[in-house]
Amino acid sequence: MVSGGIYSGKFGELRKLFNALRLRGYRVIAPKLEDGVIRLKEVTSFDEVPYGWEDIQAPGKYSVREGGKHFRHGPDAPKRILYPPRLELFRLRPDWSVEYPKERFPPTALFAIKPCDLASISVMDRVQGGIGDPYYLALRKKLIIIVENCVEPGATCFCSTMGTGPEARDGFDIAYTRLDDNLVVFRPGSDLGVELLSELNIEPATDEVLRKYYDALKNASLKAKAPFELERLPDELELGLNSPVFKEVAERCFGCAGCNMVCPTCFCFDVIDEPELDGGAVRVRVWDGCFSYTYAEVAGGNFRKDLWARYRHWVLHKFAYWVRQFGVFGCVGCGRCITWCPAGIDLRETIKSVVEWVRSRGGG
Ligand code: SF4
Ligand code: SF4
Repeated sequence: MVSGGIYSGKFGELRKLFNALRLRGYRVIAPKLEDGVIRLKEVTSFDEVPYGWEDIQAPGKYSVREGGKHFRHGPDAPKRILYPPRLELFRLRPDWSVEYPKERFPPTALFAIKPCDLASISVMDRVQGGIGDPYYLALRKKLIIIVENCVEPGATCFCSTMGTGPEARDGFDIAYTRLDDNLVVFRPGSDLGVELLSELNIEPATDEVLRKYYDALKNASLKAKAPFELERLPDELELGLNSPVFKEVAERCFGCAGCNMVCPTCFCFDVIDEPELDGGAVRVRVWDGCFSYTYAEVAGGNFRKDLWARYRHWVLHKFAYWVRQFGVFGCVGCGRCITWCPAGIDLRETIKSVVEWVRSRGGG
């Protein structure tokens, strides 16, 4: 009988868990290998989850290879599911009648997402949840979350510094950890998680398994560190507003806004009316981002014309203003903006350099 606590079982129990979700009618969204990239997609079979594959990530670089032990998060975050890049709000018919899309928020299970992505959902809860976004809340209400703890973080990960990984702390239904090819540790995080785990053939983890488990997470934690500390970081970054570092880094930036798009917590959007050939129109909500030139264009001009100012705003928002607005950092340390930046700009290095600049001038 499963209650709280930590359990262990064989790899096959993960398949049972996956099938149990499907049997309960959940749409399962999980990592899936597509065109050489591990995406977050609807999957209908456990065999589609890329166990046995590994991704290799570095600033501006991403590849996958078969035969690796652990995959990490790809470019898609839960944001793509809970807060889609393009959402139809309503349709205006040529006769001026308004049609709203039918029910489109099925009960959804996020399966094998990473702890940093779980943390990003909790950040989004404060933002989208806080403003009462009905689309976000409709999906969020019917969401079940199965997290895969990381025992092998990638080269761009820094969840350990941000306090979001490599182990999921709360907010999940089940967290599991693959310790080796046929040993998985399970932890329930909700009543539903307990109920689902009760259907598996698992048993309370022995002392030996627990030791292995804590060692693996400790090693992972040491690997996922950034070269800066969080203590006083918001203040130090604000003291670094005039640091030349922002201008120097922005020389390499293309202003493509790719970092905004892959970031699991960037939440800006635009609302656009698209005319249709029959005389009707559709109103859509689409992602927007502070890196794009037009983002800060308002009546009377653009208040962030320079790319360096947009870059600086993004860094400051994630690591300073967000803390003042929402009480948490806007960055969960997933490293996506580093991996997927075509210029290989490393956010960790920018922050480290700004902090060094501030301290060299007696600040901080
Ligand atoms: S700022 Fe970069 S590292 Fe931080 S959450 Fe966004 S994409 Fe991940
Ligand atoms: S992804 Fe890189 S190049 Fe593109 S806007 Fe972000 S920092 Fe600049």
